[in-house]
This record gives sequence, C-alpha cells and structure tokens, in this order.
Amino acid sequence: MNWPSDSSATGTIATAKQYVGRFAPSPTGPLHFGSLVAAVASYLQARAREGLWLVRIEDIDPPREQPGASELIVTALEAYGFEWDGPVIYQGQSRPQHDAALQTLIDQGLAYPCGCSRKDLADVPRGPLGTIYPGTCRAGCDAPETAIRLRTTDELITFDDALQGPQTQCLESESGYFVIRRRDGLIAYQLAVVVDDALEGVTEVVRGIDIMDSTVRQIWLQRLLGYEEPGYMHFPVITHPDGDKLSKLTGAPGIPIDEPRPLLLAALKALRQEPPASLEAASIGEIWQWAINNWSPNPLIGMKAVSIATLPGNVLTDDPPMP
Ligand SMILES: [Zn+2]
Repeated sequence: MNWPSDSSATGTIATAKQYVGRFAPSPTGPLHFGSLVAAVASYLQARAREGLWLVRIEDIDPPREQPGASELIVTALEAYGFEWDGPVIYQGQSRPQHDAALQTLIDQGLAYPCGCSRKDLADVPRGPLGTIYPGTCRAGCDAPETAIRLRTTDELITFDDALQGPQTQCLESESGYFVIRRRDGLIAYQLAVVVDDALEGVTEVVRGIDIMDSTVRQIWLQRLLGYEEPGYMHFPVITHPDGDKLSKLTGAPGIPIDEPRPLLLAALKALRQEPPASLEAASIGEIWQWAINNWSPNPLIGMKAVSIATLPGNVLTDDPPMP
C-alpha cells in the first residue's frame, strides 16, 4: 500500500499517518441489519477522515462458514454504494503470516502447546471472557493433538475507547493463557485479526461493542509481536426489542439489495445521525455524501445498545418476492 507523503509545515520528520479503517465480516451468512450498521460506522469514520477503508472477509473458520456468503456480502456492499480501497481481502490468504507470527511467539517462549480437551476444562471456573485457563500444560504436554496458548501476566492493560472510555482487563485472572491456534489447526480469531490489521496498516478499529472484550487480548498480542496499537471505537450493538443482539442466530434476515435506501437511512438513524427527510427521495450517492459530510460519532458516546424498536419502518425485511 502506498502512503501519501506528508508535507508538514516544518518539513521535518513529522509524518501524519493516513487513516486506515476496515470492515471485517465473517462469511457465516448474508449481511443483516446489524452488520450493515457496522459497515456504515467504519465506512463513515474512514471517509470523514479522508482515510482508506478496506473490506476483509474473515474466512478462517470453514466449519462455521456458509457457502456463497462471501459473494452475498460483497454483492450487498456494492448495492449499498460502499466503495472500498483495493481488492476485497480474504483473511485465509494470510495464513503464512499467521503461522509466522505464531512461530515467533513459540520461539520466544511466549506460546506453548496445550493438550487440554474441552472435557478436561469442563469444570474450570468461567469468567467474562470464557474459561479461565488453569495452566494445566504450563509444565509441558505430550498430547498428540494440541492447541497453542499465549502466556499472559497479571498486569492491568488499559485502552481508551473512543466511545466507551477507558477499559481495563487483567488477562491472567480474566482469561488466563488463551488459545491462538486451535486444536483443529485453525488460527484463532484473536491472532488472525491482530496480524491482519498490522499487515494492512489499520490505524483505527471501528466495530460493535460485542467484540470489545477481545480488545485487551488483541493489544497483548500486538505488544508481544511488536506491532503498533491502533485506536479503538466500539459502537453500540443493534438489538431486537427484547434486547437480544441482531444476528443470524436470532433470526435477522439478509438485507434486501434491490432497494437499499430505506435500510441505509435506518442504519444512519441507528448510529444516531439525523438524516433530513428530503434524503428519503435522494439517490444512494446523495445519501452517502450527506452522511460523510455530517458524520459525528459523538451521539454514541457511552451507548451500549440500540434497539430496532427505536428505528422507523421494519429493518428486518427480507428480500421481497420476485414480481
Ligand atoms: Zn492445557
């Protein structure tokens, strides 16, 4: 990727790094309204800063993937008028870099094999981040099939979220050594996302608050791998009126692609932007132009959830039947 050179007034070594944002869906199904909002938030944050916006399909967990979902996601993004920089990135293609980072951590004694099965850990206490690993294999493990776990320490790690404020975790007591390569050989989400964000030069991660709990583990990985730490912005999760997160599992349908404007406007309202009524008759291009010019994430500060009950119309409409 070519970074434009900075022309600072002093002409010294100061260089303003270009903003790079990304949208990183998993191909487990078509885009639903919640994932549309995620795409819109990261897109506006990047475009309002004249930054780059990348689309990265996180296809590193084939057992969870739905055939054809990647194509459906890209088709929907096109229909909604998103314009990404460079080709769509497929995370599975950076497996060599994931493996290299894994090996670096192993070589430095920061990661080690763990032969514990799910059953072995069944009675272990659980924290907010899942099972708190009791350190069974720290002294060595001769199991035939192993995961790779990353060492943690009891230091408090804090980051300052752009919307949710300072967030602190102690990994040793909240997750313990965590998995970075699974027993089935697949690279764990935490490692893949960190390596890819670094490869692509992502400067700010804009995503839903439901993933915020992963951030400290990702920052820990960035530190151990010597990567720069991006900024973080976690926007509220979109929920059903009963409070459940919109997802494929809770029955959120794929967004309609034949008439994108109503849901695009609803996504802006979910992000507490206030598109004027006149935009209802505007083109997709005009809606985006207004949204980029007027984008402000500030109304979302401290917000944890947005219910679709607060939005106009029905954002859970499926593709209408063919005439
Ligand atoms: Zn173990």
